[in-house]
Amino acid sequence: PWSISLDDVTVRYPNGTVALKDVSLDIPAGSMIAVVGLSGSGKSTLIRTINGLVPVTSGTLDVGEHRVSGATPRALRRLRGDIGMVFQGFNLAGRASVLNNVLVGRLAHTPLWRTLLGLYSESDKQLAYRALDSVGILSKLYQRASNLSGGQQQRVAIARALAQEPRIVLADEPVASLDPPTAHGVMADLRRINRDLGITVIVNLHLLDLAREYGVRMIGMRAGEVVYDGDAAGATDSD
Ligand code: ADP
Ligand code: ADP
Repeated sequence: PWSISLDDVTVRYPNGTVALKDVSLDIPAGSMIAVVGLSGSGKSTLIRTINGLVPVTSGTLDVGEHRVSGATPRALRRLRGDIGMVFQGFNLAGRASVLNNVLVGRLAHTPLWRTLLGLYSESDKQLAYRALDSVGILSKLYQRASNLSGGQQQRVAIARALAQEPRIVLADEPVASLDPPTAHGVMADLRRINRDLGITVIVNLHLLDLAREYGVRMIGMRAGEVVYDGDAAGATDSD
């Protein structure tokens, strides 16, 4: 039910740049996908389009039961409640505690007045603890986010996404600013989340070896088009 389907999707930005060109993809629920390509090839646009942040110019995009192409802003907000996002720059509130950063993941599921008062329910907190535990940083609960290392901050961001109880996690170059061992650790976390929780994970990478190691399916992009779609482990540079 939470499959993603793109049918001839083209995305043209207001300045005329065509960032996706007739992209057709079927992504079953529970997929682990690495999207690779040079800078400017359209990886980030693909993720932002699936999340409803960038409008589809032509073609059809369905995410689960949501028809994303042509959807109203209200419908898109509901969609985003079911999709967790992870970014290269972590996007945390640095001065806030790890716990409060993760609780932000509950926003879409919590009445506004309660969040304004900081009144998260006990079940929201339990979800946050479980999410932090699943990425191994529960012990950092009350630390300021900005006091953590880069790898730990990215794990907080992943926990924030998990606290949403998402069906899909979209990660846009999540390890681009991390050193290689830390990058491997974060990729292993994303892979485990996919395997253990059955969440679809789509992760943009510019390093082919990470994609080969942690992707199951690899989608290669060049100039807005899908130029490779298949087995990640078997993909070579010439693909
Ligand atoms: P990648 O993630 O692979 O680096 P992007 O999806 O960011 O690729 O970019 C694809 C193309 O779209 C590039 O030519 C980029 O300059 C362009 N682009 C990205 N965002 C915008 C925008 N908001 N407005 C106009 N052009 C954009
Ligand atoms: P409040 O702002 O209401 O005091 P906090 O955000 O300080 O709440 O969190 C307190 C909650 O955190 C309590 O429910 C407590 O049981 C729980 N808690 C504290 N430390 C941990 C921990 N290491 N693991 C799980 N839960 C914890």
